[in-house]
Amino acid sequence: MLFHSTRGNDSGRTFEEVLMQGLANDGGLFMPDNWPQVDLEHLKSLNSFLDIAKHIVPLFTKSSFSDDEVLNILDKTWHDFGKDNLAEIHQLDDSKYVLELFHGPTAAFKDFGLQLAAAFFNQSLKRQSKTAVVLGATSGDTGSAAIDACKRFDSIKSFILLPDGNMSEVQRRQMTTVDSPNVFTLRVNGSFDDCQAIVKKAFSERSFLKDDQFLLAVNSINWVRIIGQICYYFYASLKITNYNEPLNFSVPTGNFGNVFACYSAHKMGMPLK
Ligand SMILES: *Cc1c(COP(=O)(O)O)cnc(C)c1O
Repeated sequence: MLFHSTRGNDSGRTFEEVLMQGLANDGGLFMPDNWPQVDLEHLKSLNSFLDIAKHIVPLFTKSSFSDDEVLNILDKTWHDFGKDNLAEIHQLDDSKYVLELFHGPTAAFKDFGLQLAAAFFNQSLKRQSKTAVVLGATSGDTGSAAIDACKRFDSIKSFILLPDGNMSEVQRRQMTTVDSPNVFTLRVNGSFDDCQAIVKKAFSERSFLKDDQFLLAVNSINWVRIIGQICYYFYASLKITNYNEPLNFSVPTGNFGNVFACYSAHKMGMPLK
């Protein structure tokens, strides 16, 4: 299964190309050519988040990585979560549950997607003998989760731009107290939009990159984040109804990435109301 651009002028792209490039050449977003279907009966027999991820992630990666390679990566992907199953399901009453996605190291759901992206970045860089610069603008959650996910990989240097103000003190500290030589947090004398403008300019110019360096995007355009998020919708459905009843999900949204992962899970066979 390959990927194509929503704008129609970039197609036939592999998982690895989508991973390392972020945005399509024609400025569109990448989409899979078709929705891979899960084996729901098989999923019903599973128990843990990791086992579900091991069924789902390989459906997207076959164009670039062998299944064995992916299963090995997944064994080491998610780390420093406060719960063994990464997410917890908290029942409120007969019909309402909270899917707790805040047990990761930065307390944002973004740990699920960005730890997966970082693990695949590292694998791809290793086999190409290259290094990468991660460049991102943040108003809080994305920067913390990206820094935390990438700091363990020597081949990746992270440069995260923060606005001056408009950020919680906890998040400012999450980003500015990381003691790793490959993490650079820069405060910009301006707003989030000013930070974003610098990042966009860098992605269009790229002249500062060395020959063997990738420039990686960690914002919500990166499809690998969506794949990591699809897994927890399947996990919630398994735990709550064993896929026998369609659930409703209420999802807070910004760039539509997280709720799009829910829609994607449905397209792949998860019952959804
Ligand atoms: C990132 C974030 C969002 C927005 O998510 P999208 O995937 O961009 O829609 C909403 N709420 C919280 C707490 C977040 O960290």
